[in-house]
Amino acid sequence: MRYINNRHKEPAELALYRENTPGVSYDGIPKKEKTIIRESLIDEQGYICAYCMGKIINVENCTIEHYIPQKRHETSPYSEEEHKKQSLLYSNMSGVCINNGDHCDKKRGNIPFEILDPHRASCEELITYDLQGNIIPSGSEVEKVKKDISTLGLNCKKLINGRTAALDEVWKRFVNEHERSSWSKELFMERAQFYRTKQLKRGKTKFHAYCNYIAWYFEYYAKNYKSKE
Ligand SMILES: [Zn+2]
Repeated sequence: MRYINNRHKEPAELALYRENTPGVSYDGIPKKEKTIIRESLIDEQGYICAYCMGKIINVENCTIEHYIPQKRHETSPYSEEEHKKQSLLYSNMSGVCINNGDHCDKKRGNIPFEILDPHRASCEELITYDLQGNIIPSGSEVEKVKKDISTLGLNCKKLINGRTAALDEVWKRFVNEHERSSWSKELFMERAQFYRTKQLKRGKTKFHAYCNYIAWYFEYYAKNYKSKE
């Protein structure tokens, strides 16, 4: 999970629909408007899923997720009315990957979250990774984070494989492009920063798939690197 730190303004089309449609509901939002919302969401997220950081190629690979779900779960702290209201607010939406139900919104259904929220910077401090590609809780709220990781299936086989495959590919490229004699803590930290930053690709700024995992790895390598001299 990556903090979505540069939210766009709500698309005018959504505000217009919400303000001017009698009996307004999320399901009633026309297809054209929903496409505009999805475009805006994936653009601000740098073309990765708000939950798993898997690559989102375009609007066709993306669905709109509500942090406070459209339908109230029996354990939700919010009223039916609040869920309905939130379902129409851009601030409650994010773009997520389409998958077979092992992870992200499909796995989650409408279960309320404990603490993880891609709209809050804290989401990056609450999790860390290990060398096997697992996401692990970090900090003092371990139990809550564990529950959210499980709600989202973030350690399902497919995502662990996705993270390790992305890292393998990046690492191979790194080794090809950087002679061993040039390796240093500074170089690894520079690479980590690179993967924490959106890069321009064919006119769009995008993150690398599983960017925070790759950045974590370079930082880990920097911390543990001992030059031969
Ligand atoms: Zn996802």
